[in-house]
Amino acid sequence: MMYCPRCGSKTKAEESYCVICGAQLPKDIDERAQGQGLTVGG
Ligand SMILES: [Zn+2]
Repeated sequence: MMYCPRCGSKTKAEESYCVICGAQLPKDIDERAQGQGLTVGG
């Protein structure tokens, strides 16, 4: 299961953007699997 690094919502591997907060999801699945620890932009 993948999670948005920004809001922590569940995401699909095929999605490029989070459908909840609209954040761009990392290309690396491992980064998404972490669930947090990634901050992009401001
Ligand atoms: Zn999100």
